[in-house]
Amino acid sequence: MKIDLSLSPIANHLENPRWPVLIAGPCSAESEEQLLNTARQLKASKRVSYFRAGVWKPRTRPGSFEGMGEIALKWLQTVKQETGLRTAVEIATTEHAELALKYGVDVLWVGARTSVNPFSVQSIADSIRGCNVVVLVKNPVNPDLQLWLGALERINRAGITQLAAIHRGFSAYEKSVYRNEPVWNMAIELKTLCPALPVICDPSHIAGKRNLVPLVAQKALDLNMDGLMVEVHNNPCIAKSDAEQQLTPGDYAQMIYALQLREVSPAKPELRSELDAYRQQIDILDDTIFQSIAQRMSISQKIGRYKKDHNLMVLQLNRWEEILEKRCSLTTAIGLSYEFTKRLLELIHEESINLQTEIMNGRD
Ligand code: PEP
Ligand code: MN
Repeated sequence: MKIDLSLSPIANHLENPRWPVLIAGPCSAESEEQLLNTARQLKASKRVSYFRAGVWKPRTRPGSFEGMGEIALKWLQTVKQETGLRTAVEIATTEHAELALKYGVDVLWVGARTSVNPFSVQSIADSIRGCNVVVLVKNPVNPDLQLWLGALERINRAGITQLAAIHRGFSAYEKSVYRNEPVWNMAIELKTLCPALPVICDPSHIAGKRNLVPLVAQKALDLNMDGLMVEVHNNPCIAKSDAEQQLTPGDYAQMIYALQLREVSPAKPELRSELDAYRQQIDILDDTIFQSIAQRMSISQKIGRYKKDHNLMVLQLNRWEEILEKRCSLTTAIGLSYEFTKRLLELIHEESINLQTEIMNGRD
């Protein structure tokens, strides 16, 4: 199902239209000097379309630096006048939205802690109804695609058509190398559901550590994301928020120039036919895989009828453990990862169990 958000693409101001939309700037606006210094260096890199800065900061614990507020909007006006960079600011309340518009901010973004709350998103949407402004909606902190879509729809229904999503990763209970789990599938699913909606990746909040930022940024571009939002500070070590993940303007420029921009399809026809040949092989193999799965399910159903006739439990834990062990030792020997085999088998097993449960309950 495709979702019809009525959209006009958000503009890129780089000279090369193939470049993704690039938004860069500090996590927080701390002083006029810090903003101007960072913005001047970013401008010199010629690889930035918008200058970001947090003016009101949603901090996890009270007592941390909560942003400079209205005065920082004045500094951003100066940045814009001096460098010509368009500005982007996070808004979380109707008051923030009104102030940001009053000071001529070009791009408003709804943060991850706000996009989880439909009441907040709706009140922001009502306060900017019909305004000529670009709005970006970060994914909610929890991996819920419907909630993300709902937030985008609320803004879009308020007549905002210059709209994009920002993929900044999701909170996870378990420890990981990332600060926020990317769950790339969810960003891909959003692109599939809303083909006209630009999806911008925020590698800084996914990575949480500056050395991981370039890897995440490259992966985002490899997955055909439409842009990047990167945290850049003139002196990250003394940043008042997210010090560990911010890049210096020099590191940013180096990262951007090193990024590989890939094509959707090869330019030369002979290379295209090689790709087509591989794809034909994949299509044939996929058919075989799905036919085998269908056969497996029909045998599972026979087993389900047998279990019903002999009054046996649907879930046979020993058998499931045996399947898992046998398959995983086989597939790791032929080069598939244990994790992948386990996930695939779990999916197949779950479907088998569902089919057999229906048989038990007489619904087959
Ligand atoms: C930010 O961009 O600085 C920020 C607070 O991001 P998020 O809403 O993704 O946590
Ligand atoms: Mn931040």
